[in-house]
Amino acid sequence: MTTDDGPSNFLRELIAADVAAGKHGGRVVTRFPPEPNGYLHIGHAKSICLNFGLAREFGGTCNLRFDDTNPAREEQEYVDAIEADVRWLGFDWGERKYFASGYFDQLYRWAVQLIGKGLAYVDDQTTEQIREGRGNFYRKGTDSPNRDRSVDENLELFERMRAGEFPDGARVLRAKIDMSHANLNMRDPPMYRIKRAHHHRTGDDWCIYPMYDYAHGLSDALEGVTHSICTLEFEDHRLLYDWFIEALELEHRPQQVEFAKLNFSYIVLSKRKLLELVKGGYVNGWDDPRMPTIRGLRRRGVTPEAIRAVAERTGASKRDGRVDITLLEHEIREHLNATSPRAMAVLDPLKLVIENFDEHAVEWFEAPNNPEDPAAGGRKVPFSREIYIERDDFREVAPKKWYRFAPGQEVRLRYACFVRCNEVIKDAAGNVVELRCTWDPASRGGDSPDGRKVRGTSHWVSARHAIAAEVRLYDRLFSEPDPEGIDGRDWKEFLDPRSIRVVAGAMLEPSLADVPVGARFQFERVGYFCADDDSRPGHPVFNRTIGLKDSWAKIEAKGG
Ligand code: ATP
Ligand code: MG
Repeated sequence: MTTDDGPSNFLRELIAADVAAGKHGGRVVTRFPPEPNGYLHIGHAKSICLNFGLAREFGGTCNLRFDDTNPAREEQEYVDAIEADVRWLGFDWGERKYFASGYFDQLYRWAVQLIGKGLAYVDDQTTEQIREGRGNFYRKGTDSPNRDRSVDENLELFERMRAGEFPDGARVLRAKIDMSHANLNMRDPPMYRIKRAHHHRTGDDWCIYPMYDYAHGLSDALEGVTHSICTLEFEDHRLLYDWFIEALELEHRPQQVEFAKLNFSYIVLSKRKLLELVKGGYVNGWDDPRMPTIRGLRRRGVTPEAIRAVAERTGASKRDGRVDITLLEHEIREHLNATSPRAMAVLDPLKLVIENFDEHAVEWFEAPNNPEDPAAGGRKVPFSREIYIERDDFREVAPKKWYRFAPGQEVRLRYACFVRCNEVIKDAAGNVVELRCTWDPASRGGDSPDGRKVRGTSHWVSARHAIAAEVRLYDRLFSEPDPEGIDGRDWKEFLDPRSIRVVAGAMLEPSLADVPVGARFQFERVGYFCADDDSRPGHPVFNRTIGLKDSWAKIEAKGG
């Protein structure tokens, strides 16, 4: 997928060649055409990055066009969300926001023109009869008994369809092409259907609606789109896309180019399936941080930069397949590592009492905000007699090479000092509830006072200053790399119940008490976290975006 010259992207090469050849006067106009019937997911982000990104790269423009030809399923809520998500990803359509529904009048006039040219007819057959008549891959289609209606009769019937004289589904307008064409899409495809449904923009003005294949290419032509970038499932529709434009003798001819959809292991992307997860209560809404939606990724703490980097690194190809999820995870970490301030948080607290530390004293230690970025400065972290450490940083019986807490062992508290564990306190049930330690005041700041080696370092939080928080540990939503590809099993069977674990009593350093929603941090030694929408002043809620361990490098080294 990637080479030394970067990922291959045939779309970039094709557009560069067209520009060099002066095609379309050297102009580049693309469009991102979402159907407003759901929230955008990372696959759409790929399309957004390609369309807006390539236009920008070649000095062109990219339109945002809502493909709203299907009134029953579309809603304003989705339109608003899509706009917000495209902006969040870092792209701007300027004044160029369009709706396919804005072209309904023009599309209707063009349909009348096609009837006039003898290239479209009204068919009275039922949907079932039409499907039967179109045949299949092995069987040629047969002409509809209505195929040879006169132009005048077709004009009159189409007019009456529009006027609402026939019930839903009673008639359709079909393009008159070729019922024995090898490409099934060319066997007199429907152009208009009767459907009484309230449209989110045109209200009840229309009771006939154009089909996607008829509306899409003509909308592209109207907008002067030069490169109509779409996904591979439309490859077989390209002939039809061109046919409408040629039949109408339109001057501007956009060019449809198809690329493979982006998909990842351990997720599902189809809007229908994502809707099923939401409706079925398998996740907590479209913005559940485990969802591959832009909303979900954003709430999880993923940055737009990471998503754009993934879009770039995955290039564009003609072959469908799943990209290893660790590539996405790697890019998420890369950007967070470079940009997130560090903080200390203990997810599973174990109390540690420093017996030789004054009960009333507080020491403030300097901690850098981001060792990767000196400009990020530093902050003071309070230290007192009682602190919390991570329970997992203690072993009563230390295994070999265990450098963290164990009876008798000296450990560095990051940015603070050395402490030695002298005694382990247990409750009646035998659980470890407290460690009794002493500190070496000469090790203030965490440096060895006399060259003695302390190999283990732990993060910590002063108990008196700690902020209690809820932390939600998210993981991959599915336990299988290809949940949709396992014979005889429903993909939902592979939803992983471990994909969310809620930790109620995490302890955070006090600087995190009032962070704004969306603020991202690296909790040292623990992972990357983001303040959730549910945070309240003094009561933060954090989502784990991702852990620290990167497995992509290993895969890449193997030539994956
Ligand atoms: P889905 O198949 O996930 O339900 P869709 O294709 O029906 O999505 P649209 O709103 O029609 O959703 O898509 C808008 C644009 O995004 C289209 O140009 C479509 O080709 C593109 N797109 C959708 N899914 C992907 C994907 N996984 N990778 C790249 N582009 C995609
Ligand atoms: Mg679609």
